[in-house]
Amino acid sequence: MSPLDSIRKYHPELTELRRDLHAHPELGMGEHRTAEIVAQKLESFGVEVHRGVGRTGVVGVLRGRPGNRAIGLRADMDALPIEEANDVPYRSRTSGVMHACGHDGHTTMLLGAAKYLAETRNFDGTVHFIFQPGEEGCGGALAMLEDGLFQRFPCDAIYGMHNRPGMPVGEYAISEGPAMAGGAFFDITVTGKGAHGAHPDAGMDPVIAACHIATAAQTIVARNLNPADPAVISITKIGGGDAYNVIPETATMSGTARFFSRKVGEQIEEGMKRVVAGVAAGLGCTAEIDWRLIFAPTVNAADATDAYVAAASELVGEGKVTRGKPPSMGSEDFSFMMEQVPGAYILVGNGEGAMPHNPRYMFNDEAIPFGAALYARIVERGLKAG
Ligand SMILES: [Zn+2]
Ligand SMILES: [Zn+2]
Repeated sequence: MSPLDSIRKYHPELTELRRDLHAHPELGMGEHRTAEIVAQKLESFGVEVHRGVGRTGVVGVLRGRPGNRAIGLRADMDALPIEEANDVPYRSRTSGVMHACGHDGHTTMLLGAAKYLAETRNFDGTVHFIFQPGEEGCGGALAMLEDGLFQRFPCDAIYGMHNRPGMPVGEYAISEGPAMAGGAFFDITVTGKGAHGAHPDAGMDPVIAACHIATAAQTIVARNLNPADPAVISITKIGGGDAYNVIPETATMSGTARFFSRKVGEQIEEGMKRVVAGVAAGLGCTAEIDWRLIFAPTVNAADATDAYVAAASELVGEGKVTRGKPPSMGSEDFSFMMEQVPGAYILVGNGEGAMPHNPRYMFNDEAIPFGAALYARIVERGLKAG
């Protein structure tokens, strides 16, 4: 029997679980209730549980028939600081916090796979179920890696997934190579000399310097990078001063950069440092930039991509698996794990509806068996002796 048919038997139970997680969202690195539910469910399936891996992360270990190989399956657990606009009985009971990215669904799908695999154990070797905290820019993947994730739970390949609104339920999409951008956040402080707004000659205006920096920063993508390397620099916050007639001492700017290789990320960082310091100096000010790499580029390994496509095609037929999906400028911190262990990240259709991070977004419960069965099938195919 296909894991899709088997897992459909748990669909009502998994739907109830997903809605409970939805009603009780927790922000990144604070997923205490969620992590405890995950741990207890895993234990009830007969999976060995390790709590507190990377603060609120949980790892489950399941052994099948004897074998030396191991596969890691990863899901994220955190919610977002968004006030939910959906009116459903299981809407968020925590004001200002919402599962607006579907990580309630991802957690449920991985638990569904764990239940099925623990019952059937139709594989040779070990499965590591990796329940990651804090994916939404909170450093959850790095926290688990710093806690020795792959030293304690070695994996030969790792697999992650994300729901995709706008793609029909029961379909999948993936591309080999760079799939999602790496991302950095930065903060810039420009320091000048405050003065009366009527007497700029008595000061050095940091606001004008900040405006020139914001403009000049765009030339890094347009003039310094190889035009074949896609990249984005967005200044998303700018501030300075409190009065109509006061030139302030400082102005601040923040934003994000996106890129598809660490090398291009480093080129942007160097360019930003040069532009920030140089433009400020040219206008009589000083400036500093604090640059933080938040997401590595997500690069799907060829073998793992092939394995995902083959497993998904078995479940739903080749026609419902898109290979060669264009890369996205969005980011995903599973990338840090994929820099250490080859793996792949696939999109799972969520049907029509609002996009992630929108207050009306909702994970589609009909997608649960498709995610859970794919996690399960990748193990059955990947850990097959002989
Ligand atoms: Zn998100
Ligand atoms: Zn997400």
